Amino acid sequence: MPRILFLFLDGVGLGADDPARNPLAAADLPTLSALLAGARPLAATLRTETASALFIPTDAGLGVDGLPQSATGQAALLTGRNIPAEIGGHWGPKPNAAVAQVLRAGSIFHELRSAGRRAALLSGYPQRYFDAIASGRRSYSAIPLAATAAGLDLAGEDDIRAGRALGADFTNAFWRSELGSDVPVYTPREAGQRLAAAAAEYDFALFEHWVTDYVGHRGALSDGIALVEQIDQVLAGVLDRWDLARDLVIITSDHGNLEDLGHRHHTLNRVPTFLIGAGRAAFDDLHDLTGLVPGIRRVLLQTV
Ligand SMILES: [Zn+2]
Repeated sequence: MPRILFLFLDGVGLGADDPARNPLAAADLPTLSALLAGARPLAATLRTETASALFIPTDAGLGVDGLPQSATGQAALLTGRNIPAEIGGHWGPKPNAAVAQVLRAGSIFHELRSAGRRAALLSGYPQRYFDAIASGRRSYSAIPLAATAAGLDLAGEDDIRAGRALGADFTNAFWRSELGSDVPVYTPREAGQRLAAAAAEYDFALFEHWVTDYVGHRGALSDGIALVEQIDQVLAGVLDRWDLARDLVIITSDHGNLEDLGHRHHTLNRVPTFLIGAGRAAFDDLHDLTGLVPGIRRVLLQTV
């Protein structure tokens, strides 16, 4: 049975071929381009199959009016259901009561654990996050809510120190600069290698990277370019260590944002889904955010 490393990039869509607005049109992205037969991840790039990967432009709007948002988009990714339609609209960034109820009732994390599969969320959180959750000053976003509701422990500083998890920025540089922590700091490529090694301990490992959405809301074009170049190198590191003949990497997002830095809002663009390695044929009919979970079930639970 293949293992799955699911690399979730918040707020990355397929935008215009405009290097003045879209970091993905301007950056040097050798790893992603190799998965696209030399193309860039842009709106005009069609579904692409290479020897090792399948790329599917993926609808995040789900037939619901308005701009897609994080809570409902991530809930669709984690349940395989059209959560924006079920609750009557896109909602985010944090889950409202309706989204939280959905995620507490069940998600792919619950399904996998119930079937005896080993699952983990490999993005680590600082102590101040746990303190803020415990005090009620902060609430979980959709992914950690789903993970904890399924009984998973969130990774903390000890896990990052031991290499069992990484900071959400991949390299842990943020932990040094902003948190004053002496955790190891990696190059992006080393971080990808570490992530692959950590994920190899599980049947299903999810990593949540939210910096893409943050830069989409607040960053400059140069920030966006540097970030997507870093992510490309992280992916190169993952692929250095991940056995694509046996295991699968999934990359996707919940809505567009970063691909248009001409404004500060989410977009209606489709999002890039990459399925790299073994088992990718299970996702052949994926076309929107609800298609991830059925594919994961086929791979890890051998359902048809
Ligand atoms: Zn989002």
